[in-house]
Amino acid sequence: MNVKHQFPLLQKYGDTLAYMDNAATTQKPQVVIDAMVNYYENTNANIHRSPHRLGADATAAYEGARETVRSFIHAKKVEEIVFTKGATEAVNLVVQSYVAQHIRAGDNVVISIMEHHANFVPWQILCEERNASLRIIPINEAGELDVSTLDDLLDERTKILAISHISNTLGTINPIKKIIKTAHKKNIPVLIDGAQSIAHRVVNVQDLDCDFFVFSGHKIFAPTGIGVLYAKENYLKNMRPYQYGGDMILSVTVNKTTFNRIPYRFEAGTPPIAEAIGLAKALDFVHSLGRENIKAYTSELLHYATEKLTQIEGLRIIGQAQDKTSILSFTLADIHPHDIATLLDQQGIAIRAGHHCTQPLMEHYGIAGTARASFTIYNTKAEIDKLAAALKEVIKMFA
Ligand code: PLP
Repeated sequence: MNVKHQFPLLQKYGDTLAYMDNAATTQKPQVVIDAMVNYYENTNANIHRSPHRLGADATAAYEGARETVRSFIHAKKVEEIVFTKGATEAVNLVVQSYVAQHIRAGDNVVISIMEHHANFVPWQILCEERNASLRIIPINEAGELDVSTLDDLLDERTKILAISHISNTLGTINPIKKIIKTAHKKNIPVLIDGAQSIAHRVVNVQDLDCDFFVFSGHKIFAPTGIGVLYAKENYLKNMRPYQYGGDMILSVTVNKTTFNRIPYRFEAGTPPIAEAIGLAKALDFVHSLGRENIKAYTSELLHYATEKLTQIEGLRIIGQAQDKTSILSFTLADIHPHDIATLLDQQGIAIRAGHHCTQPLMEHYGIAGTARASFTIYNTKAEIDKLAAALKEVIKMFA
């Protein structure tokens, strides 16, 4: 897509940088940076309580951002949108404020082997603390979930099913609509980790019928420090606050505190106001490009890169699901992924190397880590050619 010129960092480095670490974080377009600068230059004030013009403007911008998020993920009500620090905090919020409130010894939580640590460790710790069991949906060699195991894994003692929409390591797109339906037949709520899907697929939480959906702004061209928890109103209304302090209360006396209504009850303290404004601008930006266009463009890049890299002798792609997004994890002969990444960096190619916060998945494949190139709207086929050529050089150096 012809968008590189809209990203100042990419403009600055020009042809000397092929940034392929988009699954970790994306670059920010000028419109997002401008929106945040504009806020600080013209509107900066605290929100909700400031009885002056700037306070009203800042509040309107922050609450406007909430409405933009609602519309972007097709939530029914703006009250169902809670701003968090990111996907990680949103998962932890659901763990502490919802599941921890009613999980008992002998109950279970179901996740999958491909989960990011953000959607793995909080559940594992909770289960350990409560003598509950953590049940894991396995995958096949291609990196696709074995959904046939759900019948056995989900039962009347399952408190939640928490699953990623798209794997950050394999690129696998999970059949979440079908999974949600299966869980709901047994009255089990479902949390979807949308950290990787939010920028690549149209997300319609009402159509999916998920109970919780989490994502981080920084993976969709927005700033760091802002993320979202979507939760159906029924759940949110009955959940305990996550943190206590200013803005989440209705009244406080020496003897008693009553809580504010949703979603404010879950946003204690001064929130990341400029970041929320930046997020809304990023969502507008993506909306204007069209997610179907983004999907088509990045799918073509994935297809092209897969073909190119498959031709390299000794290169093994980890994650070959039928339904995949533009994430390419690979090993190269017995060269350490960090060596690959370092040598590519010397040639101006930024990729990721390591376990990608999915150590259980690495254990499943019996490897320490992979090299990972992840593509988005500003990557090009020419950059992929450069990657393939650079990988061939790496092999020569190690030969
Ligand atoms: N879930 C997935 C699938 C991810 O890829 C990531 C980040 O890489 C996260 C959760 C955590 O996101 P954050 O670190 O922004 O909270």
